[in-house]
Amino acid sequence: MTGYDAWRIATERDVAFADFLTVASAGAGESGAFRLGDGFGVLVLARDPSGDDACVFLSAAVDGVRTCGTHPSRPNVCRVYPMALRDGAIVLRADVVCGDRDWNMAAIDRPAWHAEIARYASDWATYERVVAAWNANGGVDADAFMGYVRSVYDSGFAFRL
Ligand code: SF4
Repeated sequence: MTGYDAWRIATERDVAFADFLTVASAGAGESGAFRLGDGFGVLVLARDPSGDDACVFLSAAVDGVRTCGTHPSRPNVCRVYPMALRDGAIVLRADVVCGDRDWNMAAIDRPAWHAEIARYASDWATYERVVAAWNANGGVDADAFMGYVRSVYDSGFAFRL
């Protein structure tokens, strides 16, 4: 998750970051890793403990189908799934759980995938600057980091870093 992903979901749904995010431990040099008091973490979507541990936004099944409960504001990582950019070409990621038959590569709108992946890369670049500013000042805890991210995107400051 980038900070912009989190901010977009929180503002569009009028919810707190902590309502849908959690922190996974991360290595110091990992992309998006922010400093905490006792290590580093990255923002990830929370899982629903009352269900099957799926994403907190995944709906209950209706006629056997489960859908995204935040589809219009879903994170970039979900928007580009299951594609990746390799040597300038859109390719199916190697680690997808669903099978090749679930994706008709011949029918993929490749310019649209390029645009989504380019936006994702741009959002990551901005978020890396947000995280670097936080890390330079020393970490506190996850709640403080979420508050910091919310404030720098609320104010537009993130885009001027
Ligand atoms: S697409 Fe929606 S339900 Fe699926 S992981 Fe992303 S936010 Fe969660």
